[in-house]
Amino acid sequence: MQRGQILKLTEDPHRRLNPLTGEWVLVSPHRATRPWQGEVAGVQTAPEPAYDPNCYLCPGNSRAGGVRNPTYGSTFVFDNDFAALKQSTDRTRLDIDQQGLIVAQGEPGICRVICFSPRHDLTLATMEIGEIEGVVQIWIDQFRELGTRKEINHVQIFENRGAMMGASNPHPHCQVWATASIPGEPQKELRAQHSYWKTRGRCLLCDYVALEQTAQARMIFENEGFVGLVPFWAVWPFEILVSSRRHLGSMNQFTGADSRALADMLHRVTSTYNKVFDVSFPYSMGFHQSPTDNATHSECHFHAHFYPPLLRSATIRKFMVGFEMLGTPQRDITAEIAAERLKQLANQQ
Ligand SMILES: [Zn+2]
Ligand SMILES: [Zn+2]
Ligand SMILES: [Zn+2]
Repeated sequence: MQRGQILKLTEDPHRRLNPLTGEWVLVSPHRATRPWQGEVAGVQTAPEPAYDPNCYLCPGNSRAGGVRNPTYGSTFVFDNDFAALKQSTDRTRLDIDQQGLIVAQGEPGICRVICFSPRHDLTLATMEIGEIEGVVQIWIDQFRELGTRKEINHVQIFENRGAMMGASNPHPHCQVWATASIPGEPQKELRAQHSYWKTRGRCLLCDYVALEQTAQARMIFENEGFVGLVPFWAVWPFEILVSSRRHLGSMNQFTGADSRALADMLHRVTSTYNKVFDVSFPYSMGFHQSPTDNATHSECHFHAHFYPPLLRSATIRKFMVGFEMLGTPQRDITAEIAAERLKQLANQQ
């Protein structure tokens, strides 16, 4: 680039800051100037049955350990049979070498599974909005119940969808991991939101959402309660950030209208995803909300991240290896191009 020439975000390699984490992503748009090829490489998979006798999440079936599921009619919550955390663990911290180099701490917690529907073959993309609203209500109940426990300071609700994401079962479900510590990702984001709040007296995500509503370039969905957009700093090809429009810290503050609006937003995001490569789109999704540590977290703004791995077709995924593992994440198609593509698909019937 010649001196005096201004950086072009549509052409020149550059890095973008994620203000929520303080981390950067390297963007190489010159490698992705080819127009959209529409490579859908249709992977034909047999449709799932409405009931699978071998599924441990289907109503009436027995799970590992011999527990039998009730013949539930809508949602169903149970403690994970192979929980990564135990409630009874002591929180003791051990500084084993006395120099802070070999340190461990007990992590008490609770892991639960939430089935979204008795139907084995449904997903958030194919469920009715009213059914998803029921799922949102269960999330709220779980967040409240787990969050009020003394030993629980953070409640992470997340969904892993698709074999590519390591989801062992296609039955529509998510997990809740409630922990004594605030995990790494929300911890980073809370710090950034807190410092923004302290220095500017405003909320980082309220300000960011307002900017994107004006710019529109990365905005895909808007309803009464939420927005869905490709963040400027997106790492995954079709990453989406869903954020409440109002400054809400957690689901605890949801009105009935908020629950319905979130259900509508999740349905829109996931059904649009399914159109990208004409497959049931794999992703990891989860909510970031206020910790339940009894502190006031005025800085915290409710949002969800969708991280889908697919890049160019139903089978070609993005890997975080090489420079990305050792340096910093990198992408070719810009957030704006991805948003444009998703917007087109969202408007297609
Ligand atoms: Zn099932
Ligand atoms: Zn806010
Ligand atoms: Zn977040």
